[in-house]
Amino acid sequence: MTAAIHPLPRDHKILDGKAVGAELRAASKAEAERLAAAGWAPRLVSILVGDVAAAELYVRNQRRAAETTAIAFDQRNYPAETTQAELLAAIAALNADPRVTGIILQRPLPPHISVRALQSAIHPLKDVEGLHPASIGNIVYNDLQMGPCTSVAAVELLKRTGLGLQGLEVVVIGHSEIVGKPIAFLLMSEGATVTVCHHMTRNLRVHSRQADAVFVAVGKPGLVTGDMIKPGAALIDIGINQVTLDDGTTRVVGDADYASCHEVAGWITPVPGGVGPVTVAILLGNTVTAARLQKAHYESAFGDPLPGRRP
Ligand code: NAD
Repeated sequence: MTAAIHPLPRDHKILDGKAVGAELRAASKAEAERLAAAGWAPRLVSILVGDVAAAELYVRNQRRAAETTAIAFDQRNYPAETTQAELLAAIAALNADPRVTGIILQRPLPPHISVRALQSAIHPLKDVEGLHPASIGNIVYNDLQMGPCTSVAAVELLKRTGLGLQGLEVVVIGHSEIVGKPIAFLLMSEGATVTVCHHMTRNLRVHSRQADAVFVAVGKPGLVTGDMIKPGAALIDIGINQVTLDDGTTRVVGDADYASCHEVAGWITPVPGGVGPVTVAILLGNTVTAARLQKAHYESAFGDPLPGRRP
């Protein structure tokens, strides 16, 4: 007689980013295939400057996720000494290429390059990261056609808890232009009451302990501990930090001390496997949206071309 196999009980506190990401990608894949059939196959070009090894894992995950979503993915690697003018010229060529529907800049860039200058040079209709000043401005108006990926992903995970966002007390720790500030705007649009904390906040825990939900995007492992959050609160951990353990091995962890926070929180995102996979799924969703918008833009200027007759 064989023993019955009992599956391990599911940990209902964990917000499973891999499952949410897979669900979002399935919807994007269907639309990517429809666009490809109409001659507008989504194609993402990723620009990496300098240390290829550091970003390799990240880029490999993006490529795999893109390919399983029917999105072509091209990686362009530039040496660390490439000038800003050369990179701006490369971006101008990608903007002008109708086969390229989305452009992403891998960070960090070498110190002699202004990330802001490059991001601003990407055509807003190809800005699939949602970080062009026009895209960032649009979120103030709650126009989220192509929102900033990480922030949209983090808020999506909070929505998955089923907590109503209207009137919810939320604390956002970290106020960077690409993560913390956009999260605060997205949450305000949903009706949440938002407090933004940062490195100059006098007493972080006074704020975090009041909140029904805490977002943390700082880049400091162990910054948020279980005694800093209200029992039952949702904790969305956006941090990605590589730490070296006593035995010399390395691990990727978030900004929360997972064990103590898991005990107290009502919901928690693991790192890895939380915000990260949803961010990639939102990026790919934006890539499909970008292709659709470019198709509409082209057709409004030149009329509807015959199927398969895309220039
Ligand atoms: P950043 O360095 O631009 O900003 C850090 C923020 O943390 C600032 O607002 C700063 O004021 C605040 N801060 C610093 N020390 C603090 C303290 N002791 N208490 C409270 N606030 C403090 O960082 P970023 O680009 O916003 O990234 C933050 C983290 O999110 C990093 O770990 C990064 O790797 C990660 N990240 C993850 C994703 C993803 O897809 N999951 C995407 C982007 C960034």
